[in-house]
Amino acid sequence: MPELPEVETSRRGIEPHILNRTVTDVIVRQKNLRWPIPATLKSQLVNQKIRQVERRGKYILLYTDAGTVILHLGMSGSLRILKQSVPPEKHDHFDIFFSNNKLLRLRDPRRFGAVLWTKKDPLKHKLLCDLGPEPLSNDFTAEYLFAISRKRSVAIKTLLMNSHIVVGVGNIYANESLFSAGINPKRAASKISLNRYQQLVNSVKSILQLSIEQGGTTLRDFTQEDGKPGYFQQTLAVYGRTSEPCPVCGKPIKKISQAQRSTFYCSHCQK
Ligand SMILES: [Zn+2]
Repeated sequence: MPELPEVETSRRGIEPHILNRTVTDVIVRQKNLRWPIPATLKSQLVNQKIRQVERRGKYILLYTDAGTVILHLGMSGSLRILKQSVPPEKHDHFDIFFSNNKLLRLRDPRRFGAVLWTKKDPLKHKLLCDLGPEPLSNDFTAEYLFAISRKRSVAIKTLLMNSHIVVGVGNIYANESLFSAGINPKRAASKISLNRYQQLVNSVKSILQLSIEQGGTTLRDFTQEDGKPGYFQQTLAVYGRTSEPCPVCGKPIKKISQAQRSTFYCSHCQK
């Protein structure tokens, strides 16, 4: 599943090709994504210039003077920039054509992605208005997490994955950040000190930042006709490593389930 670093890498991959370009056509081959692609999208978008390419959480926002396209990659979506002569394949559901003879193509085999349109401030759209702070922003601090967690007995990992608390810390990054900070994922959020939240915030930021930097090496893939663009395998310390030795102490990594998601941790190193 594309997580925040992949979405940010996608944004950076497409931005130089579409920023300040005029939309010349919109093609919808399959409108039934997570929500239907609006029937009016083509008439709204054609002749508009892309003014900004932004990201909020895992949403990519294409701003124009008439409104904003809200893109989400869902479980399996990917974006590419291609020449307009490149024929679509089976799961290529949506194209935006531009004045530079390029197109932005959404491929999404499982169709949990989304293409929406709003004429209002997209940050006030119902999908975005309740999102917590960006993890790489100055609003995501130890003091913020400490204050918001005082009356929450929920496990810290579940809190960290709540997009109303902080956006874009998906399962892989929650597992890896908690390991890096030495915090047991089952620990009640209310029972963690400010100092330990500082370690956790530092871990979240550095792990996401490293992933985005690694993604930067794949930016050229956004214009390749074949292959899957923009995703990259980070070196993972605990995620997916059930029973393998902990990279710090050598004891076996444990796997449990929390809120229907797999949790991987070292019970010796994480308290
Ligand atoms: Zn360990």
